[in-house]
Amino acid sequence: MTYLAIPISAKDLNTCKEQIKTACAAGAEALELRTDYIEGLNTDKLAEVVSAGKQTKLPVVVTCRDPKEGGQNNLPPAIRIEILAKAVKLGADFIDCEYENFKHGDFACAIKKTLAENGKIKLIISAHNFKNKFENLAQVYEQIFTVCPAAVAKTAYQANHINDCFEAFDILKKHGKKTIAICMGKAGVISRIIAKKLDAFMTFASIEANSATAPGQLTSEQMKSYRFDIIDSATEFFGVIGDPVAHSMSPAVHNACFAAEKMNRVYLPVLVAGGQTDFNEFMDNITSRPYLDFKGFSITIPHKTSALEYAREKGEHIEPLAVKIGAANTLTIGINERINAYNTDYAGAMDALTNAMGITRKQLHGKTVAVVGAGGAARAIIAGLVDVGAKVTIYNRTIARANNLALEFGCRSDDLAGIKNLDAEIVVNCTSIGMHPEVNASPVPAQCLKSSMTVFDTVYNPMETLLLRQAKQARAKTISGVEMFINQAGEQFKLFTHAHTDCPMETLRKATLEKLDRK
Ligand code: NAP
Repeated sequence: MTYLAIPISAKDLNTCKEQIKTACAAGAEALELRTDYIEGLNTDKLAEVVSAGKQTKLPVVVTCRDPKEGGQNNLPPAIRIEILAKAVKLGADFIDCEYENFKHGDFACAIKKTLAENGKIKLIISAHNFKNKFENLAQVYEQIFTVCPAAVAKTAYQANHINDCFEAFDILKKHGKKTIAICMGKAGVISRIIAKKLDAFMTFASIEANSATAPGQLTSEQMKSYRFDIIDSATEFFGVIGDPVAHSMSPAVHNACFAAEKMNRVYLPVLVAGGQTDFNEFMDNITSRPYLDFKGFSITIPHKTSALEYAREKGEHIEPLAVKIGAANTLTIGINERINAYNTDYAGAMDALTNAMGITRKQLHGKTVAVVGAGGAARAIIAGLVDVGAKVTIYNRTIARANNLALEFGCRSDDLAGIKNLDAEIVVNCTSIGMHPEVNASPVPAQCLKSSMTVFDTVYNPMETLLLRQAKQARAKTISGVEMFINQAGEQFKLFTHAHTDCPMETLRKATLEKLDRK
């Protein structure tokens, strides 16, 4: 079992006690009493907070962190020794002592003596690096186990890139419950969740974002939104690779579907910064560690072309239309860590169109379509439309981009001003015009919209854009970008299950709408 520990980090005893109550209600499985946060800390205050912690019946860790390793209040070594020694006597279940202090001097002698006199207590020996990863992480663990073989060895280091996390995973894989390995910072977020699959002794979450005791620490609510409670050694991981990813709706949506199907699967936000090289390194790290059980990814900005290129370089399977589009938004990892690359953006858009129009993809053949925009989304949708024989005209602010796309896919092109002569059965907005916060803008003048048209806006925030409102007023058929999002996510779900399980579409829709409501 991996304890989900919630640090108690208040300046005064009353707030500490309130935090303890809130932590219990939030599902804490252990409490870390960060006594170094308490102002005017002395053994009486310690006794009160330990007693409040012990009343919960949860395991209690007492930490009095050295300021050199992130501790508060600049407490001198003599006080910290006194606090830890007293915590042992007060019946704390664990004390956390820094390796640098434990290995020599008065500090070590005092702690060792107290531990020897109180057999039951366990020791966590920790090392921190708030700047970057340790030069030799494996050696840090070896050194800790050498000075105290019975201790739980803990490191917490700053991950400046997600690729810095993999050494920590290797340590957890090797030593499991004898260890804690936390990667701090935004790039290290996944380490806090994956720790449970790898049987780490403990991982940490805060009560609220503003009470985090380390950079990148998630709240317990966020941890639970990533299905923390169901994770075990057999859990398979999925995720959305992007930069940024914190705003992505995909984790909420896919986790809701996995939960509805009672699957032992968890979907994570995967922040991969940088370009092709960093992307390749990340994927190599994943595929060389089958023990992590990463089985598939959604890919978002800026990595869709990198994902396709990675699959191409490795000679993996790529869906033909993804090649034409020049971008992959889905990777699945199959038997022998083989990769499959797909693009579900075009499929999601095509399904949104055909479902609303009550026709098949083939029946789009010969239909006149005005696509506004010439970026990534436009490219995927144009490839899909041209593939079924629709007659596409591309309108774009930067005419050269429209011309190039038109040349590549055999369609017509015009600049954005040309849209005033719009004459098409279907209009698709693939620009970000009208997206939050610029909600009072539309790429198409209202007077160009007719009741005979189907108007599809790929923007989904807001769900009903100005373009769609004006199209409704013109009595045109309207389709929101939400439909495209839902359909592409449904396609991904099927790909993630290798078409063995139909996507629970109602769950997907509900989770998407709930997420959008909160935006
Ligand atoms: P992109 O590659 O950056 O392309 C942006 C496009 O918007 C370009 O054609 C750009 O024109 C145009 N544009 C941006 N601001 C403009 C402005 N102020 N005036 C005129 N044109 C402007 O982005 P993308 O990946 O294609 O995404 C575009 C939109 O598609 C996003 O806003 C998103 O809402 C939507 N989308 C929806 C889904 C879904 O599932 N529903 C999925 C993907 C994307 P220039 O070439 O002149 O710069």
